[in-house]
Amino acid sequence: TDTTTPTAATIDALSQHFPLCMQNLHRELRKSHHLKHFGRLQYTLFLKGLGLSLSECILFWRKSFSLIADDKFKSEYLYNIRHSYGDVGGDANRRGRGYTPYSCQKLLTEAPPSAGQTHGCPYRTYSVDNLLPLLQAVGVTDRVLLQGVKEDVGKQRYHIACNRVFEHAHKAQLKKVKEENLWPASELDTILHPNTYFKRSFLLKN
Ligand code: SF4
Repeated sequence: TDTTTPTAATIDALSQHFPLCMQNLHRELRKSHHLKHFGRLQYTLFLKGLGLSLSECILFWRKSFSLIADDKFKSEYLYNIRHSYGDVGGDANRRGRGYTPYSCQKLLTEAPPSAGQTHGCPYRTYSVDNLLPLLQAVGVTDRVLLQGVKEDVGKQRYHIACNRVFEHAHKAQLKKVKEENLWPASELDTILHPNTYFKRSFLLKN
């Protein structure tokens, strides 16, 4: 078996490679054992993009919603997960494929979350006073870096802030990759998709 294929049981460990938008959803899920609709949708599609199978994705949500009984899970949540994967749903076009994981562009332009919702891009949806503690909570503590992030978001350059954090977290590995020409240039372009963030982070640290 392929040990790099994600399963419900490995998402916690893999979440260290998630961009802030998905780390935020993962943390909220672990904290409250629940996520609201748009958060579930955003996160389910991201997990699908990671290569998590439908059955493992269902298992992941079933275990994560630990305060909810099986029948409620089945009646209220199961359908949407299957729908995201194209396992059910009326649109023949999407049958078997489902929906595409959301890009940064989509997450940066959709309606911002209201109170109690966690979806979207935190670089955009959080005030600086909430963003900096969130970054610190996920281990981003370098003062110069945080100052750079603050300036980026002040100029509404949200994905630049995200790329800045990525580059800082992977500085040594990126240097090696560039010096030794290990990746094609296109693999070093600005990150514009949460799944690209994951993929690069995972490859660099494994
Ligand atoms: Fe997620 Fe993209 Fe925002 Fe980064 S810039 S946190 S990958 S939506």
